[in-house]
Amino acid sequence: MDNADVAVIGGGPAGLQTARLLAEGGADVTVLEAKPAVGANVVCTGLIGRDVFSEFRLPGETIGPDFQEAEIVSFSGRSIRYRHPSPFASIVDRERFDGNLGGLAREAGAEIETGTMVRDVSVSRDGVTIEAERDGRPVRRRARLTVLATGVEGRLHAKLGLTPPARRIYGAQVEIRGEGSVAPTIFVGPPTAPGGFAWSVPSGGDRFRIGLITDGNPRKVFDDFAARYYPRLDPAGAVRRLEFKPICQGMAKRSVADRALAVGEAAGQVKTTTGGGIYYGLWGARLASETILEALKKNAFGPADLAAYDRRWKAGLRREISIGYYARKFYSMMSAGQFEALFTLAQSDGLIPVIQNEGQFDWQSGLILSLFRKTAVAGIFKGLSRNNVFLDRLLN
Ligand SMILES: Cc1cc2nc3c(=O)[nH]c(=O)nc-3n(C[C@H](O)[C@H](O)[C@H](O)COP(=O)(O)OP(=O)(O)OC[C@H]3O[C@@H](n4cnc5c(N)ncnc54)[C@H](O)[C@@H]3O)c2cc1C
Repeated sequence: MDNADVAVIGGGPAGLQTARLLAEGGADVTVLEAKPAVGANVVCTGLIGRDVFSEFRLPGETIGPDFQEAEIVSFSGRSIRYRHPSPFASIVDRERFDGNLGGLAREAGAEIETGTMVRDVSVSRDGVTIEAERDGRPVRRRARLTVLATGVEGRLHAKLGLTPPARRIYGAQVEIRGEGSVAPTIFVGPPTAPGGFAWSVPSGGDRFRIGLITDGNPRKVFDDFAARYYPRLDPAGAVRRLEFKPICQGMAKRSVADRALAVGEAAGQVKTTTGGGIYYGLWGARLASETILEALKKNAFGPADLAAYDRRWKAGLRREISIGYYARKFYSMMSAGQFEALFTLAQSDGLIPVIQNEGQFDWQSGLILSLFRKTAVAGIFKGLSRNNVFLDRLLN
């Protein structure tokens, strides 16, 4: 299709769900995806909350193991076995998950052009022109409006008058075969992965995804982490090789512009605690498609016509994204001693009931505030708590 109502650039979960909802609403939609196939070579653990499937009408067949328990390991080697009152998350294979989303978008009538790398985009009075490349040949597409769903890639934002999220953290992950716990293991404490944490998550059969997020140099942090906890890990024998990928952090200042809006990670719809972006991307897709369908009806695509989307998703996620950010920053400033004291408090059962009562996989701000109020009162953060801007923001 050369002239579409909407051209979605990027066929990850956020772009595909936006395309699906728009096509279901009667719009002509084309998705332009650089990879040769939807879902190919995605670097992602695939952990998502159990409710995602019903909330966003997704087929459950890509769901892998369900998790109700997790092992939390501190840098000094102590561990806590946590059990949630009900299964809190599932793991999906992103190749199949994204592939299914693509199938749903196609069924609804969207076109998906894979192997199509968008190089340039420009907006004029009567539409958007997209210059792409496929098999070394130029491809041009026109649409009334474009949705930027390019994930962490920020090269096209400025051409559309959008801003990418200002900050990033860095992820690393490898998938191996081996023996290990049937529950996810989370490695915490500032020295493990500065500014973040590491994990080993069973991904089905005898496979495990081992990875981390960090503010530091992900390769060095991964090497140190693997040497300490998985000294026999052989990246050459991996089921999926060790890969590194940044993750956006923080809300994009401008997620709408003339005939353009950004959705998913491209807008900063990512949890600032864990770097998880699938749920918020699907959530953002719903609001984006509602605004776009209205705009198509009115044939009005200026920033003011699209502003409702920017307002609505930020109103819904601002608290989560900012509290998560301050919490992770505060965590990254804790000394090893303070962290171990926090761990002792958790082991003595001071924190577990709070997590069991208030823990929600995708909406974490309530739990974070309860935990900080409790631990700050316990006096663990003496010295850090005074004049600490991150703690101040969290508690006031
Ligand atoms: C190590 C690691 C582990 C993670 N684990 C989890 C997890 O367990 N749970 C979770 O929810 N999230 C996790 N995430 C984050 C999650 O993978 C992303 O936030 C999510 O994929 C974002 O979805 P999206 O649709 O916005 O972007 P993406 O999934 O990144 O999709 C963007 C698409 O746009 C395409 N594209 C980019 N530029 C162009 C262009 N110029 N032309 C055409 N196509 C283009 C890309 O090829 C890509 O397919 C993890 C990330 C990392 C790095």
